[in-house]
Amino acid sequence: MTRVKAKKHLGQHFLKDQNIAQQIVESLTNTPKKVLEVGPGMGVLTQYLVQRPEIDFQVIEIDTESVDYLKEHFPQLQSGIIYGDFLKLNLADLYTEPFSLIGNFPYNITGPIFFKVFENRNLIPQVVGMIQKEVAERLAAGPGSKTYGILSVLLQAFYDIEYLFTVNEHVFSPPPRVKSAVIRLVRNDVATIDCDEKLFVRVVKAIFNQRRKAIRNSIKVIDFDREAINDHDFLTRRPEQMSVQDFIELTRLVQDNPRKQKE
Ligand code: SAH
Repeated sequence: MTRVKAKKHLGQHFLKDQNIAQQIVESLTNTPKKVLEVGPGMGVLTQYLVQRPEIDFQVIEIDTESVDYLKEHFPQLQSGIIYGDFLKLNLADLYTEPFSLIGNFPYNITGPIFFKVFENRNLIPQVVGMIQKEVAERLAAGPGSKTYGILSVLLQAFYDIEYLFTVNEHVFSPPPRVKSAVIRLVRNDVATIDCDEKLFVRVVKAIFNQRRKAIRNSIKVIDFDREAINDHDFLTRRPEQMSVQDFIELTRLVQDNPRKQKE
């Protein structure tokens, strides 16, 4: 079968460099038992993963043409090829045991992929992925950095994140417009955070959505008794001056101070 024709709307940029592909697969640590690859395309990463019989391995691919290509080139994988949209996949239905996620991800859906990781963090001990360099920097950024944002805080609450290496656009066909990078997320030992998790997500989003404002202003969209924490130092800060722990404490303050009911 001939090569898959790259489709832009599916974020298809096929990696040509075998050494980089191998390096990505070798970045998986702790020899995971189960691995799911998102968007295998023509299988540049898949070819190294199928060589590891100790791994229970599956792939999910949205493009029929790529699925046909994979079935032909990796007959040993047959039942491990899922045709579908990773974002629509119910991971808890598919996996009762933890699995590691790997992929040269489709860049048009990097954000939603990592939100899904956040939501399924207790099922996903590790992620190794190639994404846009700028997004990789953002995910790994700590407080004080200009690129520190919503996903940095949410993911860092539960994962140790490492920026592994940068990848040049010319090793892809067709080349993407931006540079790429490989990152690794490893689940930390935080079982639960010390506040309501849904509220935590709302607080973090509200604050970064108005990143130039002091928290005193951006927190206004959340309903609680602001008077009760009026003098707190957090209110004078900007989002990039808040550590993950600070966001948890702020959420706790909001949670413990509901708006007083009018008499
Ligand atoms: N891993 C391959 C291809 C990377 S391009 C390589 O490195 O060469 C991204 C791949 O993700 C494409 O194959 C594309 O078809 C697939 N893809 C895009 N959106 C997807 C989705 N929602 N679910 C699963 N796969 C998707």
